[in-house]
Amino acid sequence: MKKLLLVFAAFLMLTSFRIDMRGPWVRTEKANIVLFTRPVDFSATASPDSMVIANILLEQENIIVYINRYLRTDYNSKFEIYLYNFDEAKEKIGTNGGGSCDSKRKWIFFTYYRQPVFNTYRNEYEYLGVHETVHLIAGTELGYSKTRFFGEGYSNAIDGNYGAIWVGDTLVRYRNDSTLQKLKKLGKLSTPGELLHRSEMPPDLYYPQIGCLMKWLFDEYGVENMNRLYTAKEKQIEKKFFEVTGESFADMERKYLAHLHYN
Ligand SMILES: [Zn+2]
Repeated sequence: MKKLLLVFAAFLMLTSFRIDMRGPWVRTEKANIVLFTRPVDFSATASPDSMVIANILLEQENIIVYINRYLRTDYNSKFEIYLYNFDEAKEKIGTNGGGSCDSKRKWIFFTYYRQPVFNTYRNEYEYLGVHETVHLIAGTELGYSKTRFFGEGYSNAIDGNYGAIWVGDTLVRYRNDSTLQKLKKLGKLSTPGELLHRSEMPPDLYYPQIGCLMKWLFDEYGVENMNRLYTAKEKQIEKKFFEVTGESFADMERKYLAHLHYN
C-alpha cells in the first residue's frame, strides 16, 4: 500500500494572507451555492469540466443538509465557492493542500483536485468535503468563533478526518480516531486544557485531537449546549462550560482522559 499523507492545511481567514480573486471564472449556480471555477485550459493543471461542476454542487448541497442535521441549525442562504486549479492555488490562496473560509463574506476558497477523496464516515467521494462548509455554516448560524478550540473543533469533529492516504488507486480521508490511536501510542496526547490554552500546535497534532474531543463533547453534553459556547472567549470557556453543562471543566477533563485511557 502506497501511503501519501496529503495535508489539508485548512486555515481560517485570521491569517494575513491576501487571496487573489481575479478572474476569469466560470460561474455556475445551484440552490444556495454559487461555484466559480477556471475555464478549460486556464493553466497547466486541469480545470473542472461540467460533469465535475455538477458533482461538486450536489456534494455541497448534501453537505449543507448533513451539517444542519448535525448542528441542529437551519442554514439556508447563498454562499460562494472559488475553486482554484492545483498549480495556481498556493500562490493565490496560500495553500494547495485544501483551502480556507471567510464566513463573514460567505466565501470558501479551495484547491481543485482531479481525483476526489473517499470519506469513510459519509461513505462518499468528496471534492471539497465538509471542513470549510462547517466554518461557514457555524459562523453564520452561531456567530464568529474566537478560539481554535471551537472553530477548528467543530470543523474537525463533523468532518471526522484530517489528511488522506492512498489505498491502492483511491485516496482515502484519514480518520481522526485512527490518528488519535497513533498519538496515544507515541505518548503525544494532549489534555482538553492544553487543547484550549495551547491551541497553536501544528494542525497535524491539533486538528485530529480537537476533532475527537469535540465529537465526544457533542455526545456527552449535547450539540445545543456546545453551540451556546461556540463564540466564547478563551478565558471564559471554563466558567461558561460549568454554567451551560452544570459540570466543571476539570470534571469533564477527568472524564475525557478516562475515556481516552479505556478506548
Ligand atoms: Zn479549519
